[in-house]
Amino acid sequence: MKIIKNHAEEGCIKISWYTEKTDLLGPFFRFVLWVQGCERRCRGCIAEHMQSCEGGENISIDKLASLIISSPDTEGITISGGEPFYQADRLCSLLETVKKERSDFGVIIYTGYTCDELKNSGEEAVLKLLEMTDILIDGPYIEELDDNAGLRGSSNQNVRFLTNHYAENAKQYNKPSGRRVSFVFTDDRTRMIGVPSQAAKEILKKTGLKNLPESSAGNTN
Ligand code: SF4
Repeated sequence: MKIIKNHAEEGCIKISWYTEKTDLLGPFFRFVLWVQGCERRCRGCIAEHMQSCEGGENISIDKLASLIISSPDTEGITISGGEPFYQADRLCSLLETVKKERSDFGVIIYTGYTCDELKNSGEEAVLKLLEMTDILIDGPYIEELDDNAGLRGSSNQNVRFLTNHYAENAKQYNKPSGRRVSFVFTDDRTRMIGVPSQAAKEILKKTGLKNLPESSAGNTN
């Protein structure tokens, strides 16, 4: 099973969107990056527009690194999508550049792979990205197992503290009703940030927001 896809242009990362400051996807204020491309096709995925490897946009690693380094008062980054490990090599370069300036920058990654699948991949960049990750939320989203709890999408997924960086914040991930989302309205689209609760998903369905093109940037994987 080969994980890295090489679907971004040279020197770039294929992204769907980013936001420079939110407290909805991990401890403290964070930069959040949603990468483009995921072939898993989980039923109930709220980021369907991030599944195609053809979509999204290429952004240079240097430009993204300077945006992150200069982002206001952020403690770290959360990387979601889409499947971050498809671009493990590029994300390693990005994090290396950022960590040269901010060595204590925290890293949280949402992935549809299990931690064991990543460890057994034998791909150097995949293993390196794992080493740079403080919290890994792993496993595919299974709609029937969405228990409305915490900052992972369904109960089969694990919140793995791979380092001690966020040991103090462990409780935040398992609160029974700890999910919050926010919406960002721009001229041509509406985006959602956060892991939606069942109630939020019902509202999305009723309003039709779920069906807007490019409508959400929330997390289920
Ligand atoms: S829920 Fe996550 S892993 Fe599943 S298809 Fe969507 S982006 Fe991919």
